[in-house]
Amino acid sequence: MLDSRSQNTIADEHGGGDQTVLIDIEDLSVEFPVGSGALFSRNRAVVHAVDDVSLTIYKGECLGLVGESGSGKTTLGRAILRLQKATRGRVRYEGEAMDEMGGRDLRNLRRKMQIIFQDPYSSLDPRMSAGAIIGEGMSIHKLAPDRATYSRRVAELLEMVGLNAEMARRFPHEFSGGQRQRIGIARALAVEPDFIVCDEPVSALDVSIQAQILSLLTNLQFELGLTYLFVAHDLSVVRHISDRVAVMYLGRIVEVAPSADLYRNPLHPYTYALISGIPVPDPRIEAQRERVVLGGEPANPADPPTGCHFHPRCPFATEQCVVEKPELREIDSSRLVSCHRAEELTLEGV
Ligand code: SF4
Repeated sequence: MLDSRSQNTIADEHGGGDQTVLIDIEDLSVEFPVGSGALFSRNRAVVHAVDDVSLTIYKGECLGLVGESGSGKTTLGRAILRLQKATRGRVRYEGEAMDEMGGRDLRNLRRKMQIIFQDPYSSLDPRMSAGAIIGEGMSIHKLAPDRATYSRRVAELLEMVGLNAEMARRFPHEFSGGQRQRIGIARALAVEPDFIVCDEPVSALDVSIQAQILSLLTNLQFELGLTYLFVAHDLSVVRHISDRVAVMYLGRIVEVAPSADLYRNPLHPYTYALISGIPVPDPRIEAQRERVVLGGEPANPADPPTGCHFHPRCPFATEQCVVEKPELREIDSSRLVSCHRAEELTLEGV
């Protein structure tokens, strides 16, 4: 497996952003006990939601994190923010181990790291006005010295996300889904973060609104110098917003690559299957494309397959895949892949 320094070199040459490491994730695992076995039994089943993940996020980049529902991507995003306790491993923010921080350092870091939630309908408190929702973090972190500064800043934030300052007095039920997501974005921006986990921020919205929100997020990233971890189940959503994309399957990262390379030339059969499901706008090309339909049942995360977790569904699996776990390894200077056969397969992108 590559250490962080090796990953550093890879993205220095080909990744997005200014190539300074912001977040370094090292061997991170998150496990959940499941089932009805005795609470303290040693044999109690465990779901490995995040399984020994190492990943680097560079300052100013948008790293897409993609996988099917249940792949662990949301849990990984929450573990980075410490909204979910990790079972093992470590996250460093600007070189500082987050699990060793406490008191004022941790409070300050919590301000710098924010999240935009998936569901704009349930993530806003219906009893609070839009202005109070946006301003709450500013009050907690004492970012506005007086009432006038507070109101001015709330108005600025509303306009920054494409809403009107007068909307501060309205309540969530008076807004559409897209407008509510804009309020969620303004709430995250209010505390002047450096890093935002965008947790499927458009998947609950109509397609026409999705494009507007993605464009807003891209513009804000550029204007404010933000770093994003953009979590999505749909590869087409992260295609244009991400500098690099990491693909997750059953708790493990299976491929990391610059966005354009990943779509054009996927190296992992699971990435290939996801890409083959993206529709192409040209009907002639679309009619000739080969679709990969994954065989087998999605695996049970409490009882994952041996060797390569993907082997029961992989059309290219061999005996080696059944018994031996493929490490995430460097294929060229910009790409990581976890597949025994990556060099010999020729997989077609879009
Ligand atoms: Fe398929 Fe084997 Fe590669 Fe896993 S290691 S993706 S089973 S070819």
